[in-house]
Amino acid sequence: MEINQFYIAGKFITPDGKEIIDLINPATEEKVGHVVSGSEKDVNDAVNSAQHAFTYASSLSLEQKKTILQEIIDGMDKRREEFAQVISEEMGAPIKVARGAQFSSGKVHFINTLKVIDGFSFSEVHDNITLNKLPVGPVGMITPWNWPLNQMCTKIASAIAAGTSFVLKPSEITPGAAQLFAEVVHKTSMPKGMFNLVHGYGATVGKAMSQHNDIEMISFTGSTRAGIDIQKTAADTIKRVSLELGGKSPNIILDDVDLEKAVNMGMKQCFFNTGQSCSSPTRMLIPEAMLDDATKYAVAAAGSMHTGDPQNEEIFLGPISNKIQYEKVQSLIQTGIDEGAKLACGGTGRPAGLDKGFYVKPTVFTNVNNKMTIAREEIFGPVICLIPYQDLDEAVEIANDSPYGLSSMISCADEAKGHEIAKRIRTGQVIVNRQSRGEFPAPFGGFKMSGNGREHGTFGIDEYLEVQAVIN
Ligand code: NAD
Repeated sequence: MEINQFYIAGKFITPDGKEIIDLINPATEEKVGHVVSGSEKDVNDAVNSAQHAFTYASSLSLEQKKTILQEIIDGMDKRREEFAQVISEEMGAPIKVARGAQFSSGKVHFINTLKVIDGFSFSEVHDNITLNKLPVGPVGMITPWNWPLNQMCTKIASAIAAGTSFVLKPSEITPGAAQLFAEVVHKTSMPKGMFNLVHGYGATVGKAMSQHNDIEMISFTGSTRAGIDIQKTAADTIKRVSLELGGKSPNIILDDVDLEKAVNMGMKQCFFNTGQSCSSPTRMLIPEAMLDDATKYAVAAAGSMHTGDPQNEEIFLGPISNKIQYEKVQSLIQTGIDEGAKLACGGTGRPAGLDKGFYVKPTVFTNVNNKMTIAREEIFGPVICLIPYQDLDEAVEIANDSPYGLSSMISCADEAKGHEIAKRIRTGQVIVNRQSRGEFPAPFGGFKMSGNGREHGTFGIDEYLEVQAVIN
């Protein structure tokens, strides 16, 4: 995987930047390729291209937008296995997850946007006032490594529907999926320059985008730390900044559930993608009298999750995607032990039999106090905290006692009660016993330090539109 070209103005070009970033396979810790990091000139070239193409992007007809969305779906389908392999190699996703959820969660945004675009109103008349929703202008998109396709595709599908041009900077850890995606776009009828791809570090390329005068909006998904930085850098140009940040999601288990089933479901949701999801339910809130049983079920569930080579179809947990993150997870596990949380299984170090690769033992902490570091900070690995509560009011208080507000789960037998509790929870998404996704593209985004944007479906399209009032 040697990525030496960027995609600007409809062409794969040799960038001005010369710095090389090594790509490391987290399962082997070996170098598997490199990507060139862009310079300020590369960002300027990409923004010029997006600015020039904005005229074409903003005048696309509904039919043209639908054709482009469908062409992308078809193009992605043809290269599904390549996407899966590259994601698995770059960030260690188990190959089954890479072929399944990692690929599909990207493609589904184009499918869902096609579903909603016909009914989307770009103009409405109220008496003598016409409200036009116009594309915002060139957008800078900055994305993370944990769901590389999902995060860029949700932005891109909505931006196409809105009719704006954009510059994408994917994570420097997972540039391969974006590079493949550019090859897919190259074969579509999308106007040249509407989509531009630059690679590189956040501190240089991401910063140059955030402060650029001719970028009208930054759509960012990633850590709260970087989100704060981007918001500050973007302040001088008053550009719109849409942030999708971290989380520390609670899963309130009520006392009327089948406990074993509810704990198993919560464990699977938390440890899926090796615990590297912003919305993972990492704080499992348990009625105090049920804590011992819940701990037993959680330990059994962790024990049944096999960790190993992501190319092995039988494993559920791969390695952590990179060394810095691996060391952070190890250090937070140690902090949990030091602060007195009870380690029910797992702990520091690698699982038995794995002496290479960024593998973490599936770890269950129980009897955790919500004030402990492991209950407050995003760990981003296969680590869960079981937190006891006395009554429902205390459960809601603990759930809301977090700087984050991205997602939450309520596991209950009485779903009407679950819906009532949902209104008391300060998160952008509440999952009440979800078994599978519905048809409607639910908006996704956070309260508090989890961000201010809403992605997917009609809410996603609105993000890339300015409202104009025309008054007779
Ligand atoms: P990160 O913030 O380190 O990097 C994300 C992206 O931002 C990368 O492309 C990086 O190069 C860039 N970047 C970093 N610093 C920057 C800066 N100062 N200016 C501009 N760009 C900068 O995050 P990560 O480690 O890649 O991803 C994990 C984080 O993403 C977790 O916190 C996770 O919760 C969050 N996340 C949130 C969502 C969501 O929708 N809310 C989804 C997935 C991941």
